[in-house]
Amino acid sequence: MPRDGHDISRRQISDNALKVLYRLHKAGYQAYLVGGGVRDLLLGQQPKDFDVVTDAKPEDIKKLFRNSRLVGRRFRLAHIMFGREIIEVATFRGHHTESDDKISKTNASGRLLRDNVYGSIDEDAQRRDFTVNALYYSIGDYSIRSYGGGIQDLRARTLRLIGDPETRYREDPVRMLRAVRFATKLGMEIESHTAAPIKQLAPLLKDIPAARMYEEVLKLFFAGKAVQNFRMLREYQLFAPLFPLVEAQLKEDPHGPAMRLLAEVMQNTDARIAEDKAVTPTFFYAAILWYPLQARAQDIALESGLSPYDAFFAAMGDVFEQQCQTISIPRRFSVPARDIWQMQQRFERSKNGRAFKLLEHPKFRAAYDLLLLRAIAEGGNTAKLAEWWQQFVETDDDARKQLLQNGANNSRSGGQRNRNAQQRRRRPPRRNNGERKPQSNGAGE
Ligand code: ATP
Ligand code: MG
Repeated sequence: MPRDGHDISRRQISDNALKVLYRLHKAGYQAYLVGGGVRDLLLGQQPKDFDVVTDAKPEDIKKLFRNSRLVGRRFRLAHIMFGREIIEVATFRGHHTESDDKISKTNASGRLLRDNVYGSIDEDAQRRDFTVNALYYSIGDYSIRSYGGGIQDLRARTLRLIGDPETRYREDPVRMLRAVRFATKLGMEIESHTAAPIKQLAPLLKDIPAARMYEEVLKLFFAGKAVQNFRMLREYQLFAPLFPLVEAQLKEDPHGPAMRLLAEVMQNTDARIAEDKAVTPTFFYAAILWYPLQARAQDIALESGLSPYDAFFAAMGDVFEQQCQTISIPRRFSVPARDIWQMQQRFERSKNGRAFKLLEHPKFRAAYDLLLLRAIAEGGNTAKLAEWWQQFVETDDDARKQLLQNGANNSRSGGQRNRNAQQRRRRPPRRNNGERKPQSNGAGE
């Protein structure tokens, strides 16, 4: 597609990406903007980042840019650093003809462990995932090259994998997650052959390193499309390999509290992103793992006879350990997530003087937000508890003291009644010698 056949202008491309493209071009190499950057510009969306591809080898790129470093083993490429902006420069990928382990390697299920065979632009295009991602903007003549009908698919909003779908998913199962993500992000339909093998191959995601999965999950749930991605991941049975503990809860009770809570979490995350508010994996994981945590705590209590409190503690460790087998969650998120969990228990025990202290806890807001979501998911006593805290949070200190006073009066009279009842039960039948002192009636307790 020649320069006058499309409306991408250099003004829409970041200055740093242009610098990289021009320097490669002047040094005699081919240089293209590729993938998501071109795709998003053609769709009128602002690209997240700009990727460059060239026939220069990583070592050549390194020589050309002092501000560069080579990264990646599985897929070796150069990062050119401009302050906070990083332009990724890859060398054209080629076909895997030789069986040299050092440059290309697959495992038993067909997964590519290494992909460092270099080739031509045509070969490179065939190694990309979707046709709409195989778009190349040339800095030489400002034309766009499209392979496998990428431009037509883009116009028709069709997401189509290049080559044989099953082979391509086996090479890299993460492409199944990318299919879902691009479908929702770009408002595209997954073409039927591209969609067909997903359910059957979904379990292959279990072999993906947990660290890579962490990045993918961020892109799925923290980019404003959590509601749609959640729905679609479940539809394609891709949710289970990511979050096996959560899926077990959803399967057990498809319309129960766990499902309601997840729906709320996804909606809230999207709403916050729409309002430019911060979202954090801490809250996200604390919330979606809340019911798996309850289930695990109950099991532990039954199996080991631990007190509910100790079982809850043990379950916190178990649940994160299990989740981290599929998705690695950095400690800077999992540690405060435990605070959010523990505070759920403290909410129940702190409708007294300690309430002020709880309010000052650095994780109070997040914990309170989870309590509100649980109230929606569970109703009943949790809703009552949330209501009390809502009153407490939304008022000033004087009114808060009043609230505690009222609570204390209520519980004192209630407590008194209970204690009297207990004493009545505990007290042995009075002997007639009158020697036995009455037990404390509570006044001195
Ligand atoms: P976005 O940045 O919006 O997530 P993107 O398409 O730019 O979308 P990147 O992960 O930045 O996605 O990758 C850049 C390009 O590299 C893609 O457009 C695609 O051509 C290629 N690519 C990325 N991941 C894969 C993969 N797993 N298999 C094949 N090609 C890939
Ligand atoms: Mg990108």
